[in-house]
Amino acid sequence: MASSNEPVNSAAGAQAPSALPKMQRFIVQPQQTPAKRAVNERAADFDEIYRGFDAKAAATQASRCGQCGIPFCQIHCPLGNNIPDWLKLSAEGRLEEAYEISAATNTFPEICGRICPQDRLCEGNCVIEKGFESVTIGAIERHITETAFAEGWVRPIRPKRERAESVGIIGAGPAGLAAAEALRQLGYQVTVYDRHDRVGGLLIYGIPGFKLEKSVVERRTAWLIDGGIKFQLSADIGGATPFAELRARHHAVLIATGVYKPRDIGGPGSGLAGIVPALDYLIASNRKGLGDDVPEFESGALNAAGKHVVVVGGGDTAMDCVRTAVRQNAASVTCLYRRDRANMPGSLREVTNAEDEGVEFRWLAAPEAFLGDRQVTALRAQRMRLGLADASGRQAIEPIDGGSFTLDTDLVIKALGFDPEDLPDAFGQPGLTVTRWGTLSINPTSFETALPDVYAAGDIVRGASLVVWAIKDGRDAAASIHRRLQAQAVSSMATAAE
Ligand SMILES: Cc1cc2nc3c(=O)[nH]c(=O)nc-3n(C[C@H](O)[C@H](O)[C@H](O)COP(=O)(O)OP(=O)(O)OC[C@H]3O[C@@H](n4cnc5c(N)ncnc54)[C@H](O)[C@@H]3O)c2cc1C
Ligand code: SF4
Repeated sequence: MASSNEPVNSAAGAQAPSALPKMQRFIVQPQQTPAKRAVNERAADFDEIYRGFDAKAAATQASRCGQCGIPFCQIHCPLGNNIPDWLKLSAEGRLEEAYEISAATNTFPEICGRICPQDRLCEGNCVIEKGFESVTIGAIERHITETAFAEGWVRPIRPKRERAESVGIIGAGPAGLAAAEALRQLGYQVTVYDRHDRVGGLLIYGIPGFKLEKSVVERRTAWLIDGGIKFQLSADIGGATPFAELRARHHAVLIATGVYKPRDIGGPGSGLAGIVPALDYLIASNRKGLGDDVPEFESGALNAAGKHVVVVGGGDTAMDCVRTAVRQNAASVTCLYRRDRANMPGSLREVTNAEDEGVEFRWLAAPEAFLGDRQVTALRAQRMRLGLADASGRQAIEPIDGGSFTLDTDLVIKALGFDPEDLPDAFGQPGLTVTRWGTLSINPTSFETALPDVYAAGDIVRGASLVVWAIKDGRDAAASIHRRLQAQAVSSMATAAE
């Protein structure tokens, strides 16, 4: 590890803690994560479960950074955040400079700090993780930006010059918003269209408040509107508003529509009442929390109160469903997953939180049949075991002969993941080519689709992924759109001069 500080050990032997340099204090300073609210307190509301660091804790934890010559945390952050630099500045109490560096590569650092699966990204690759525990990078990133908001360091978007060209963005999720911000900073006229009535995509209607409070998303929405970005909400492109109309209206169009077709479960009884898709359930809960009238929640169809709930799936969506059901006062909450704990696709931090909140996990089990007359009353599950690994190293699963059990339930939530909708059909654009998974095909460097001046970014290109990747793609797509529009402007000036 290279450091600009004094060496940690002198020839005379180990130094006393007070004489140590500001950084590399992982040797004497144990890892401390932000305080978590007590289970009985946090399970009674939808507020975030982690409290933020105070200034002292943030500086102390930042000072644990090893200032590595090759910072693996930065390499494994999709945005390439300059983590060692903003950790050093944080340790020195120079938070405004830390904020400038953090905001230079990340449009929404306070959001990533809260919901990135850091154990698989930056923190999971922190060098001191081997032997000492990793630096708590996400919590410090959150602290830096929260301080910046409190101190008024988050400057409004005020382009140096206005440009005549306009860009239409379909989708107000993190990919669309990151692109909108980058293009507006450059002076483009940006309109974001979304079929929902609020800005944020899955940040507002998918991810529950106990991971990301809605006020954090709404604060950014207000900042984007103040910066001159226009939003047309409740605008279903391909439905009431034809896609072709947008192409005619704007110099470039970015498709950032995410993936929303839920994967389904078949089998006997799968059409019974009381078996619902995860996102319908989460949207109802989030809308209720935002103060909307939600008839499906009031009727009990999308409300777990008093019910024996079974959530099928093992990803982040499944964890959000089980923990939402706990907060809605379900009688019991069980998660059914066909692999084991070690092979869950969701963040282990979230699995642990769910376990702490009283969720029962039934590993190595998959639904076989749903029982009931019109309404589901029980689920029969098949026991599974892990088999041989395939070429990717992922173990196959196979049923155990004669191994099944029954769970009583009156609400089954299907959280098996999402596929893309058929956009060429929905948009009436057969020329919009897709991959074999149905995601949009793009040129990976220019983000351009098969249609000229139409770009795509985020989950609709990657498949269901992460917020941090959506932000990265949105920023990169914006840079590519800028390059193309500039080139077009130069070429039309040259033509006019001839
Ligand atoms: C329940 C859940 C929990 C998650 N938790 C995490 C987490 O903890 N951490 C993490 O990093 N990631 C998480 N993710 C993944 C993350 O939310 C997504 O990867 C990310 O939001 C993708 O961003 P996006 O902008 O591509 O799409 P989205 O956020 O899905 O936004 C797309 C937007 O496009 C709009 N739209 C779609 N079609 C149309 C149309 N035809 N016309 C107009 N508007 C349209 C939608 O209404 C939506 O607002 C979670 C996902 C889910 C479902
Ligand atoms: S954006 Fe995510 S991966 Fe990158 S430093 Fe922040 S928390 Fe880590």
